[in-house]
Amino acid sequence: MDMKREAPWVLEALQAWILENGDVLDARRFETFWRGVRKGVDPLPCPNCFLEGKKQPLAPMDVESGALVQIRPWLCRHCQERFDVPLKDPEP
Ligand SMILES: [Zn+2]
Repeated sequence: MDMKREAPWVLEALQAWILENGDVLDARRFETFWRGVRKGVDPLPCPNCFLEGKKQPLAPMDVESGALVQIRPWLCRHCQERFDVPLKDPEP
């Protein structure tokens, strides 16, 4: 898995999740925090835990093939929340 390649799609999906469960200010705070994460080095942060003021890592799961797109689920083992990230450029 190329995490640097997928990171922008992960951010997009997590931002959409935050806007559903929080507000624009939360999304902005998360984006600021996200910029400080070294992609490919640091674990990506769980937005659900972030809203509660905690820093917990997301773990990438295996890619699942949906009807139209491939999806990589990211799981937080702390809060058990799962975030489905569509892959924009599916591997053949
Ligand atoms: Zn979490």
